[in-house]
Amino acid sequence: MSMSILYHAFGIKGVTYRSTYYLGNAVFFRVETTDHHVLCPKCGHRLCIFRGRKTRWLRMPPIGRKQAILELNMHRLQCKKCIHLWWPQFPFMQGMARYTRFFALTVLDLLRSWTIRAVAQYLHVSWDVVKKIHKSRLSTKYRKINLKDVKYIGVDEFSIRKHHKYMTIFIDLQTGRVLHAVEGTKKENLAPFLKTLSRRKKQLKAVAMDMSASFAAALKEYLPDVSVVFDRYHVMALMNRKIDSLRREQQRTLDAEGKRNLKGSRFLLLRNYHSLSEKYQTKLNTLLDANQTLFTMHLMKEQLRLFWRQGTRDRADKFFKQWCFDALMSGIKQLISVGITILRRRSSLLNYYPHRITNGPLEGLNNKIKTLKRQAYGFRDMEYFKLRLYDLHTSKYAFTG
Ligand SMILES: [Zn+2]
Repeated sequence: MSMSILYHAFGIKGVTYRSTYYLGNAVFFRVETTDHHVLCPKCGHRLCIFRGRKTRWLRMPPIGRKQAILELNMHRLQCKKCIHLWWPQFPFMQGMARYTRFFALTVLDLLRSWTIRAVAQYLHVSWDVVKKIHKSRLSTKYRKINLKDVKYIGVDEFSIRKHHKYMTIFIDLQTGRVLHAVEGTKKENLAPFLKTLSRRKKQLKAVAMDMSASFAAALKEYLPDVSVVFDRYHVMALMNRKIDSLRREQQRTLDAEGKRNLKGSRFLLLRNYHSLSEKYQTKLNTLLDANQTLFTMHLMKEQLRLFWRQGTRDRADKFFKQWCFDALMSGIKQLISVGITILRRRSSLLNYYPHRITNGPLEGLNNKIKTLKRQAYGFRDMEYFKLRLYDLHTSKYAFTG
C-alpha cells in the first residue's frame, strides 16, 4: 500500500504513510502528520514544533469485502513565533466526525440507489450516521431554493400524523419541485415563506389552492398582485362531499325499496360518469331514474366538470352563472350550498382561464408523502423529513428507508 493509492482512492493527503495491519474484518492504514512547515492561524508564521499527540481512527470506503480504517497519528502544532497551539485539520477530515470525506461521498453515491438501511448495513455503520451524512448534504443543497423563475405555485395541506397534525406544502407546478414545507396551516405558519416569496419572486403569476379562507387571506396580504386559482380538484371534492351527504340523508329517509336501490351506490355517484364501465353506468342510470333528487345532483356534478372545458374566460363565466342559477333554484339543500360557496369565489374560479393550472401535480406528491409517512423515521426528525421532500424530484429510488 502506498501513499499514492491512499491519495487517489481515498483522498488522503498531507500525511505520511507508515504501515498497514489487519484486525478483525478491517484493514488499518497507519499514517502520521509530519509537516513542520504549517501556516500559523494566528500570526501567519510558517514554522512550528510538535507538542503533544493523539490518535484518531477514521472510517474510509471499504476495500473489497474489508472495512478500511485510517489510523491517524496526529501531532499538535505550536507556532515557533507566537507559541499558539492547535491541532491540524485536513481536507480529508470532516470536523470531528469519525469518517473521512470520501466515506461521506461514498454514502451519498450509494444512497442514489440504495435505502438508508442498506447503505448502513453494507458500510457497517449505524442508520443514524448515514442519515446524518445525507441530512448534512441536503441542508447545504437546499439552503436557498431558487424562487425567481417560478411562475405557478400549488399549495395544499397534508396530514402528517393521525389526528389533526397538518403540513402545508408549496410546489412549483411546472417542475413538480417542492419549494417549501411548513408545519401548520394557519396564516402565521405560512407568513414567513410568503414574505420571502414576495421579496424573491420575479415571475410568479398565480397560486392554485383549495377553497380555505386562511390561505386566501394570507395570500392577499403578502402577495396582493398574484392571482388565486381555486383548484378544480378541490371544487369537485366539495361537490362529491355534498353528493355523499345527500346520499346518506336519503338512506335515512327512504322506504325499504329506495334504500335497497341506494345500497352500494357511493362509488357510482362519486366517480366521473365516463370512467365507469358500461355495466356500472347502467346500474347508476337505474338508480338515478328512480330518484329524482339524486338524479339532479349527479347531473349537476357532471355539468360542473365542464366549467374547465369552456375554452375562454367569457364562455366559462356565462356557463358558471347559469350553473349557479340552476343550483340555487334546485331546491336541494346540498346543491344550494355548493352554489353559494362557489359563487362567492367566482373570480378565483375564473382565474383558471388565463393560467390553466391545477394542483394535479400535488396529488401525485400525496402518494409519495404517504410512502414516506410509513417510514417511522419521517417524523422523528422533521427537518430531515422536509429536506427529503425538497429532494423528492431527484429520487429515482423507491423512497424506502
Ligand atoms: Zn504564530
